[in-house]
Amino acid sequence: MPCWRENIDVNNDSLLQYGDATNLWLDLPKPLPTADSVMLVFDWQYKIATDMDSHREGVIDSASFFIAYFFPRIAVYDDVFGWNNTQYNDQVEFYNDFCNFDYTITVPQYYQVWATGDWLNTNEILDKQALKKYNAAMSSTREVNIFDSLYYFQKSKDNTQTNKQNTFKFKASNISDIAFAASSHYYWRATSVDVKGKKVFTSVVYNSRNISYANILDMASKSIKYFANEWPGTGFPFSHMTLFNGYGQMEFPMMCNDVHNENVDDDITLTTHEISHTYFPFEMGINETRFAWMDEGWAVFFEYMASVNAFKLKDSTATYPAYYFKKYIASKSLDLDVPMMTPSDVLFEKSYGFNSYGKPAAALFALKAMLGDSLFKICLQKYMSDWRGKHPQPWDFFYSFNNTSKRNLNWFWQNWYYDWGRTDWAITAVEKQTSNETIITLENIGGKIFPVDVYISTADTTTVYHHIPQTNARIFTITATGNDITKVQLKFPLIPDVIKMNDVWEK
Ligand SMILES: [Zn+2]
Repeated sequence: MPCWRENIDVNNDSLLQYGDATNLWLDLPKPLPTADSVMLVFDWQYKIATDMDSHREGVIDSASFFIAYFFPRIAVYDDVFGWNNTQYNDQVEFYNDFCNFDYTITVPQYYQVWATGDWLNTNEILDKQALKKYNAAMSSTREVNIFDSLYYFQKSKDNTQTNKQNTFKFKASNISDIAFAASSHYYWRATSVDVKGKKVFTSVVYNSRNISYANILDMASKSIKYFANEWPGTGFPFSHMTLFNGYGQMEFPMMCNDVHNENVDDDITLTTHEISHTYFPFEMGINETRFAWMDEGWAVFFEYMASVNAFKLKDSTATYPAYYFKKYIASKSLDLDVPMMTPSDVLFEKSYGFNSYGKPAAALFALKAMLGDSLFKICLQKYMSDWRGKHPQPWDFFYSFNNTSKRNLNWFWQNWYYDWGRTDWAITAVEKQTSNETIITLENIGGKIFPVDVYISTADTTTVYHHIPQTNARIFTITATGNDITKVQLKFPLIPDVIKMNDVWEK
């Protein structure tokens, strides 16, 4: 409850000096005791980004908008770092507390609004025909075109679109953020996805020039089902998911602002990736501003699992590892590759990209190989159920996996998350011991611990050893039996090795 009321003018010079582009610090006139509360009321306005290429939000075309990061909110105060003062710099993403949003959006006549949460006043806005289609999509797993022509320009008598303005009402509870989109001419196709007995109302909203964007609805439905049932396999926490055809590749709770790609595989990987963010960061409440790898690593992991398993993409067309490792492999320098624990907001773009996406996903694939699929999934699900909505920090993730797996994995966390190092196994020796026995020595030169397959060929056979390290030992030997070995080759399922020339030995 409010214990005092004071009007503060942010245009006051002394207050402006007490802030930055993102934050404004306000000292309360009296300290706020534990378990007490204060009501803060803001008058504010928001300038919509007009850069059409803005990849997060803003003007999409002269009559379509995707709006996010648009209202003042209280920074997160956590028990590890205190106030989160990280600035939005177009690189780091979210760190938000969970809130209940009860909100209205008023737009000019002809505009439809799509937003985070449940839409409460459908029958005040939609005419009979559109309402019937909307309800059909809400209640069945069939895909329904709610608007499939320039609907709003065809006025009918009972169409409330004849109002000069319309107010859309939404409600979203216990969620970390809201975003909305509005257009006077976008098409709308929707369905309900059945996940574990719960319906997820799923929509694609797109420009009439991008008619094939409608196909993304099926990708979204498949992705939601895959995530709910397979990886992470914890159901789907949201009642809605809307993919809006903008210029971005950007997730918000229940909303994605996604570009329409030239090829279908890119639409698949983008759709799976952005929807998977439902879990990390949104459901868990990850501090991405400091530890982006704690959410993007999982998003790349889930994106890959869905792309190859639900959509049957090959590794070469899935973005992991090909896309996320490309710059790293091409870079002959360690400058991209700082330890993952480096705070995300101090990294420059290239190192931010690799340390937030490709590398953390590689660490998760290495860990999954080490623990096995089944134990890894048990650990993941336990971590999620224990830390859901509680802003887990890196150490919560590490200790949760240690506890659930009943293994001390500290050497692994140290290796992948704190240490420098690259992904580079080498064959350092192939030594014949007896006429029938050869010792092959592999060395982990780069330092990062990850699995390797060793193909050992003689004149007429090839044997494969799967080496999955369970310790941080750098040297590993294989005793190969058989006649003259002609070739030894290392192959790396999922985690690319940066130096190729030490991966093959030939007689
Ligand atoms: Zn992402």
